[in-house]
Amino acid sequence: MTRSVLVLNTGSSSVKYSVVQPDSGATIADGMVDRIGEEVEPDSEREAVVDHAAALQVVFDSLAEGGNSLDDLRLVAVGHRVVHGGPDLYRPTVVDDAMIAQLERLAPLAPLHNPPAILGLEVARRALPELPHIAVFDTAFFHDLPPAAATYAIDHEIAAEWGIRRYGFHGTSHQYVSEQAADFLGAPLESLSQIVLHLGNGASASAIVGGRPVETSMGLTPMEGLVMGTRSGDVDPGVITYLWRTAGMSVEDIESMLNRRSGMRGLCGEIDFRVIRQRIESGDESDRGAAQLAYDVYIHRLRKYIGAYLAVLGTADVITFTAGVGENDAAVRRDALSGLSAFGIELDEHLNDSPAKTARRISPDGSPTTVLVIPTNEELAIARACTQVLAG
Ligand code: ADP
Repeated sequence: MTRSVLVLNTGSSSVKYSVVQPDSGATIADGMVDRIGEEVEPDSEREAVVDHAAALQVVFDSLAEGGNSLDDLRLVAVGHRVVHGGPDLYRPTVVDDAMIAQLERLAPLAPLHNPPAILGLEVARRALPELPHIAVFDTAFFHDLPPAAATYAIDHEIAAEWGIRRYGFHGTSHQYVSEQAADFLGAPLESLSQIVLHLGNGASASAIVGGRPVETSMGLTPMEGLVMGTRSGDVDPGVITYLWRTAGMSVEDIESMLNRRSGMRGLCGEIDFRVIRQRIESGDESDRGAAQLAYDVYIHRLRKYIGAYLAVLGTADVITFTAGVGENDAAVRRDALSGLSAFGIELDEHLNDSPAKTARRISPDGSPTTVLVIPTNEELAIARACTQVLAG
């Protein structure tokens, strides 16, 4: 068996894992252990997973059950997805105690994401001490955003003191997908102006010139920008101070609302676009109205970003949709790009409507802007980043 990398994405109550062969690109196994720390009913079939160490043991057990014991896998590294690298951590880096301490200092910047990732690093290092553990940061690709795009127009001394800038997230996906787009087109990455629309539960857009990002929609945290499954994306900062001062909500209440009870869930109670579509088409009247408004807000915001990025780029050679919604929802793609033929952007309806799981073009032959659907594969990108670190 050829070498493989165990890729871990640790959240507060879940561990997603994949075993990937970086050379062939094959995924040997993947899965998720969730509801960590939750109690189970006495008659439940499910066994309680008391903590993250227990969750990792469940991962190893299910790998072994699938005929992939750790000894057989020829693991060469464990790759960890870490959401926020702050101002200084951006290259994929072998984890050591000093780096964990540095990540702990950064935790306030990403209070929802980094503490569980740190826990995941510590637990996995203890369980697999003989392997190098490599952190790959979601912010990395956007580290060198041009200053005009990275800077918030707030008091510069306060911004500098507190590390406030636009960091950008989903970088692993934006980089991977933009490279795949160049491969698909058989064109040098350096020659292309691209817009990448990563539309999953989290959602972000980026504008990329010659392989380097020049804009992205997420900011200090992964809350800015597009409407997402449960996150608001852009809101007037005045909303926050108003809720705090006048509605008597605490900082935690507001943060929780903006992260967990906003976006599609906040607008219509549902995050799955398949269900939202059903409700628009056949729900009762109030169901239909809320689902339609949520969808309209989502599309409106997406179109605003596409328009802004066209202005940033001047012209886009490629627009690529990726992640759960972007890869699967033909109506979202159609509505996001309708009426833009004056900008050289057109869709071939038949190609757009044909479901497929592989990279494909959905614009007509010869149209000035090529529109693509490319499945993202952050796990493979993380595994390959790990082998690059190992190769020095
Ligand atoms: P995450 O950000 O959690 O990685 P994904 O990229 O997997 O999310 O996207 C998940 C979302 O993709 C689901 O919530 C759902 O809205 C959407 N989705 C998945 N499959 C389909 C489909 N066949 N049609 C429309 N939307 C889909």
